[in-house]
Amino acid sequence: MAHSVRWLGHSAFHITTEKGVVILIDPYITGNPSCPIKKEDIKQANLVLITHDHFDHLGTDVPDLVKATGATLIIQPELVETLRKAGVSSDNIIHYGMGMNIGAQAEIAGIKVIMTQAFHSCTAGSPAGYIIILEDGKTIYHTGDTGIFDSMRLFGEIYNIDLALVPIGSVFTMNPLQAAISLSLIKPKVTIPIHYQTFPVLTQDAGEFIDLSSKKAPEVKVEAIKPGQEVQI
Ligand SMILES: [Zn+2]
Repeated sequence: MAHSVRWLGHSAFHITTEKGVVILIDPYITGNPSCPIKKEDIKQANLVLITHDHFDHLGTDVPDLVKATGATLIIQPELVETLRKAGVSSDNIIHYGMGMNIGAQAEIAGIKVIMTQAFHSCTAGSPAGYIIILEDGKTIYHTGDTGIFDSMRLFGEIYNIDLALVPIGSVFTMNPLQAAISLSLIKPKVTIPIHYQTFPVLTQDAGEFIDLSSKKAPEVKVEAIKPGQEVQI
């Protein structure tokens, strides 16, 4: 048995832990050209993590997903009112409807979630990433939308990161070179490149990233999977 980390295209992930806990990250499903599923296909979720409020991350499905599954939504305080107005109960928002912020750690269903900074923009709150520690200690770092920053090195030192999810699309995030160098800071065992190919303006394939990673962080295994595919950790 292992944990399944399924890419739903762009920055969206559906993680099922060995014990059956389901974690959704940036579930941009409706309208996502590379997402292989419909929101109705998601019957269970325990945690929903949002990195920031851009349409391709917060999306439009979060209120329905939370209402249908009873999941706990992890968002920043500045997004709480928006989600409440969309019908999400305070009971389903982390910390009794207060939200959480960068540096904080929450624990839900045996999963530890740490919110990290990301260098990007957004409408309310500030962009974030997540370090997710599963029941057995396996650790995933979703950087969110971000340019490279040196504190990624610190996250690699504090947390023993098994899997890093890094954007390579350029235009709005790291380009393939920055993403490859970020791996030398984070020092994960495995990486999945994300936030590319979804729209014509983004980097269209992972080839350059794979090539640069082999030079900048040769010890990291690159899993350039297709939307809908999964990696086991
Ligand atoms: Zn964004």
